[in-house]
Amino acid sequence: MPDERKRILILGGTVEARNLANTLVSRGRHDVITSFAGATTTRKAPKGEVHVGGFGGTEGLRTFIERERIDLVADTTHPFAARISANAAAASHAAGIACFRLDRPPWEPQPGDDWCFVADIDACVEAIPAGANVFVTVGRQEIGAFFARDDIRVVARMIEPPALEVPAHAELVLARPPFSLDEERALIDDKKIDLLVSKNSGGESTRTKLTAAREFSLPVIMIERPAKPATVAASCVEDIITLIDRHFA
Ligand code: NAP
Repeated sequence: MPDERKRILILGGTVEARNLANTLVSRGRHDVITSFAGATTTRKAPKGEVHVGGFGGTEGLRTFIERERIDLVADTTHPFAARISANAAAASHAAGIACFRLDRPPWEPQPGDDWCFVADIDACVEAIPAGANVFVTVGRQEIGAFFARDDIRVVARMIEPPALEVPAHAELVLARPPFSLDEERALIDDKKIDLLVSKNSGGESTRTKLTAAREFSLPVIMIERPAKPATVAASCVEDIITLIDRHFA
């Protein structure tokens, strides 16, 4: 039935997830549950129902889908959240429902950029020259590998502090995106940064650090994205809504 109300599970944690939930709830055609891993405590709640915490792997997610009578999963997780995307694809397949993903386009270097691409965090840590004063924006989960390099100075920006002790050669900057270009220029200048480390997250809310790096002629070590499953993917909120509408038409 084309007008039947459906239940959509949005795997959240991104700006796009919140926009998708808010749009779907405002349209009022379907019921929406957004789930968060629970990694941060200061998130902005979207419209609709909210589930906080992991599901317990693929099997746990499949059980959740069946118990909550979910009709479709929208995987709008972060480009580096590979495990939940793999679980979402497998659990949706096992439960016999569709899973659509939103893949935010990666950033591309512009003229004047000095980027070096690396495959993962380990390769990134290895690529940092001794004595560097590095602005690290990888979040708190993987910051330990940078803290372990006591021959560099680390300015680590993240939303909430890590579970680890911060060593003497490192400094935390606790802040939530978006960041203005002026804020990024000021941080690079004040902290005398000579190298930027970033995941290739894409999107607008943290792009300004790359513009500031270009202006300061700073080299950037750019960590490539992990592989995601081959599920149907859209590149923006509007397109995933089109996929959802077509699926239920
Ligand atoms: P992950 O490694 O793919 O997921 C690990 C586990 O967390 C999953 O297996 C799942 O637990 C739970 N989980 C993740 N997302 C969930 C969601 N939306 N709802 C419910 N449970 C969820 O992802 P991650 O640990 O969130 O992050 C991995 C990487 O992505 C990190 O590098 C992190 O910095 C980056 N990340 C960045 C942002 C951001 O900047 N906005 C946001 C998220 C992640 P169960 O197996 O128990 O279900």
